[in-house]
Amino acid sequence: MSKKPLTPSELTELIAGLNRLARNLWWTWNQESQEIFQELSPRGWQNLYHNAVAVLREVSDYELRVHLQDPDFAERVRRVLASFDAYLNEKNTWGKANAPDLLKNPVIYFTAEFGFHETLPIAAGGLGILAGDHAKSASDLGLGFVGISLFYREGYFQQSINQDNWQVDYYTQLQPKNLPIEPVVDKNGEPIVCSVQMGVSEVKFKAWRVNVGRCPAYLLDTNLPENEQHYRDLTLRVYGGDSTTRILQEILLGIGGVRLMRALGVEPSVYHMNEGHAAFLALELIREKLALGKSFADALNFAKKQCIFTTHTPVEAGHDRFTASLMDYAFKGYLSHLKMSLDEVMALGRVNPTDANEPFCMTVLALKSARAANGVSELHGQVSRHMWQCLWPGVPEEKIPIGHITNGIHLLGWMKGPVRRFWRRRLTSNGAAAAPGTTGPNTDFWNKNNSWESAINDPAFWQKMGDPNFISDEEIWALRYKLRRELIEFARRRLLLQGRSLSQGDFIAFDHLLNPDALTIGFARRFATYKRAPLIFQQFEQIVKLVNDKSRPVQFIFAGKAHPRDDEGKKYIQHVIHLSKYSELKGHLVFIENYDIHVARSMVSGCDVWLNNPRRPLEASGTSGQKAGCHGCLNLSILDGWWREGYDGTNGFAIGDDSHPASIEEQDRLDSENLFKALTQQVIPTFYDRDSNGIPKKWIQMIRRAMVTLVPQFSTWRMVQDYSNKYYTTK
Ligand SMILES: *Cc1c(COP(=O)(O)O)cnc(C)c1O
Repeated sequence: MSKKPLTPSELTELIAGLNRLARNLWWTWNQESQEIFQELSPRGWQNLYHNAVAVLREVSDYELRVHLQDPDFAERVRRVLASFDAYLNEKNTWGKANAPDLLKNPVIYFTAEFGFHETLPIAAGGLGILAGDHAKSASDLGLGFVGISLFYREGYFQQSINQDNWQVDYYTQLQPKNLPIEPVVDKNGEPIVCSVQMGVSEVKFKAWRVNVGRCPAYLLDTNLPENEQHYRDLTLRVYGGDSTTRILQEILLGIGGVRLMRALGVEPSVYHMNEGHAAFLALELIREKLALGKSFADALNFAKKQCIFTTHTPVEAGHDRFTASLMDYAFKGYLSHLKMSLDEVMALGRVNPTDANEPFCMTVLALKSARAANGVSELHGQVSRHMWQCLWPGVPEEKIPIGHITNGIHLLGWMKGPVRRFWRRRLTSNGAAAAPGTTGPNTDFWNKNNSWESAINDPAFWQKMGDPNFISDEEIWALRYKLRRELIEFARRRLLLQGRSLSQGDFIAFDHLLNPDALTIGFARRFATYKRAPLIFQQFEQIVKLVNDKSRPVQFIFAGKAHPRDDEGKKYIQHVIHLSKYSELKGHLVFIENYDIHVARSMVSGCDVWLNNPRRPLEASGTSGQKAGCHGCLNLSILDGWWREGYDGTNGFAIGDDSHPASIEEQDRLDSENLFKALTQQVIPTFYDRDSNGIPKKWIQMIRRAMVTLVPQFSTWRMVQDYSNKYYTTK
């Protein structure tokens, strides 16, 4: 059947639609959109690192028109654009029903980093990833939500490894025209420019808008010709420079963020400080009230009514502290507007307001100026109450007003493509036909939830994973094989690119590097020392035996960056890479350079086991292990952060028990022993216990249990609802 070619106006409309789509991050969690961009330029898609905006710029207008003259392609584009528009215009959302006031007076979420996608590398780690996932789920839920962060034009550093296996940091300039960001302009199309006082200067800044589904996020940027060069460079890098850079970045984020909202006419009802970095926003709220003639007590109370604060780490160095002289320098100009003395400001950031030796702590300011505060897991809530009890003298620890909401992940954003297709087939009637012998497409969840975004987050859907009639062991096992193979081929490609990992004569060996049948254990995260990346290799001799066991082989894939100033972390990296090249682990252990969102997604989907061995209780929550569940990857982790709540004895593996010794030496020794014990007594035997068809029944049962119990629970779909119910919509 021949179909009519498109009219010129239909063509123009579809092209405009594709451009709109590329500039809304919704496509990053929509499979069909990704497939369209990928098809336009398969190599470009790979080389440009899955950047839809850049792919569209690479394909000429003429080529695009020719493609769209293929009626099937045009039809697919039309369908994607229709679901995109339906998403944007959906009236029947959770937010509308449960937090309608926020649609008029939104939550403004301040964060020093946002990790949305690999093409916008402006996050350093878990904090930014969480912020990005928070925004995506706020959008899916239809919440009134606006993000604020900074536009770092060199982003976070890229990692390469030199001849000495030492991490080398380098930076690349991001090109705004190739990114899903657009300048924030006024009615006449002129950039909106605001300013903040820094030191004695008035520093101007502009903003970029990122469309995160239905929600905007604004990234502030001081790179304007009217600023002195060192102020232009303030937004160069994530956590770049020294403590002076840091305090000025935080002034921009907190104070600048509030001013941008005023300039845009947004009337927030809640200011959410994601970590202490954002706490200066409280000073700006106080300044506004003082300027209207209110008393300090009233002004502080007013700020307090609107602010909520999430603390993210019990690690001391994770809490910014500034000396009085740095505060004096940074706030010189601002103080005259604030109508407060330096001492009065310092008091807000001190546990003991009158202690002249105490530095200014951002966490203290946040706790003093927020009406509610929370940690990011149950244990982290406890630890935080203990840590900050000093701010509430005489109040018993359990009464300290710091609660907890356990972190989650944005499920669709983390799902690897084949996995999204896998689940979609089981959820929708318009997906591909079900495989012969399996259950047909299931429309119940779709109808009940009225959208894929909420259907996939429905606990009742995941409950069905326990039912072998809904999904068979063979299907799950086939999916696991597919994902492991994809990861291994990805790792081989990356190692070939890394080049120097094996000597010249070894290049042929890349095709044999790693074993697609072997139990694959992944470890990837920031190489902060408390996460103890090399812990497993403390039992070196035994690990060598395990990887060389021909009938039950084990292999390891590592990745992660150390902070540029963290030499101890870099030594850990060096150690792991050294083992991967020169020890008996060679070929069974690889280190993938330049860990980022794409590497993370490949690893959590392809590995069989996700290893996490932080020094408890320093992992406030952790989220990478949460990304494993929907891919059928099992956690093997210390009972810290989220895993302490998630683990139930049937859905993965625990290292040690729900306690930890006080001494670090004792802890490291015990944890290493327990890790080895769990690995050899539980993980390996269960993985290799196969039935007559070669299916590891017990292993797959654990995968099912992990899907039933963990996936819906540790999602930002659940988390953002908790924030809304517990903090955003209560006064
Ligand atoms: C998920 C993620 C993290 C956080 O990992 P944790 O193990 O929770 O510390 C950090 N970086 C990237 C790129 C991630 O995707």
